[in-house]
Amino acid sequence: FVEVREGLAKILVPKAERIYDAPVFYNPVMALNRDISVLAVGVLTPRTVLDALSATGIRGIRYTLETPAEEVWLNDINPDAFNLILENVRLNLGVDGERIGEKRFSFGEEKRVVANLDDANRLMAEKFRYFDFLDLDPFGSPLEFLDTALRSVRRRGILAVTATDTGVLCGAYRHACRRKYLAEPIRGELCHEAGLRILIGTVVRYAAKYDLGVEVLLAYYRDHYFRAFLRLKSGAKKADGSIEGLGYLWQDENGRFEYENSFLPRKPGSYGPLWLGPLKSQGFVDDMLKLAWEHPLAHKKTLPFLETLAGELDTPFHYDTHALARRNNLQVGKLAEIIEILRDKGYSATRTHFSPMALKTDAPFEEVLEALKALQ
Ligand code: SAM
Repeated sequence: FVEVREGLAKILVPKAERIYDAPVFYNPVMALNRDISVLAVGVLTPRTVLDALSATGIRGIRYTLETPAEEVWLNDINPDAFNLILENVRLNLGVDGERIGEKRFSFGEEKRVVANLDDANRLMAEKFRYFDFLDLDPFGSPLEFLDTALRSVRRRGILAVTATDTGVLCGAYRHACRRKYLAEPIRGELCHEAGLRILIGTVVRYAAKYDLGVEVLLAYYRDHYFRAFLRLKSGAKKADGSIEGLGYLWQDENGRFEYENSFLPRKPGSYGPLWLGPLKSQGFVDDMLKLAWEHPLAHKKTLPFLETLAGELDTPFHYDTHALARRNNLQVGKLAEIIEILRDKGYSATRTHFSPMALKTDAPFEEVLEALKALQ
């Protein structure tokens, strides 16, 4: 083992040539994901938190040390992971755990940490409507945990999901996307945003059967994964409202896209169903940014990334300048200049975290194309 520091935590991680060869998984690149999650928990101040797929325990330990959460559960199905979680919790809390079940240990009193060895679905089924903040951070798709998670989180709680099956959601494996997400994915420059929106749309449909609506606090794409922080809203009307946020996307060969809110697809060649509502709550992101300025962050890109998210126009889909140029036989123009031209005409236009070459705007397709042509 080697000891690494991340945020306020120090943890033992297995030594391995490649991260996927290690007996227990730890990916330092995901420190940004964990930073943002710590900030989210810091702003939301849940009392009870579950890190359902915990591996080394790093995520739940950071929630314990870096946020006001009072009771944090760390769970993994792998006994090697569970033993490492026990060690890492001892290392960070400086207290010995007390066995409270065959596969369960409790640490501390005012700040309580529970380490658990079990299938996450079984634990979540046991802890019905218990957690204020429930985090799913799986290998691949979170879908196999989604139903039990929606029952284990409180009715007005927060569900945080990571999905690393980007190939599936972005259309490289279309049949897998149909199978897992019951949705048609799009390929090309819109695939990441559409993939994120398919993921959210699927959670909306799963939640609706429990009479739960979904508010997107923040959702993003980064380093080949998707992440969403979703606040649940209790009631059939809230669920109906969220279902109304679903719809479909079309795109032609010039790069023009259209989208429409609708439960059923209305045109052939549509992609979805997918979420067409907001990808952020501006107040929530602003609060996270404020906290980020004073909080010790583990990843040097966390702050600039949050700033991009905070400044981004929250409108569905974007124009990738390289794709647009290629599709219309034009030279690629400078992104900043295209944005400038659109703003001068009175439109809103910003960069987007989805791609360093893309912009979000409320201008129609023709105007964006005109701006690109003006720079030839
Ligand atoms: N959350 C961790 C972090 O931030 O470093 C990484 C988690 S890792 C991507 C996924 C973990 O899920 C693995 O440790 C694996 O053993 C565990 N896992 C897989 N299937 C599980 C299941 N059904 N129940 C509980 N844990 C499971």
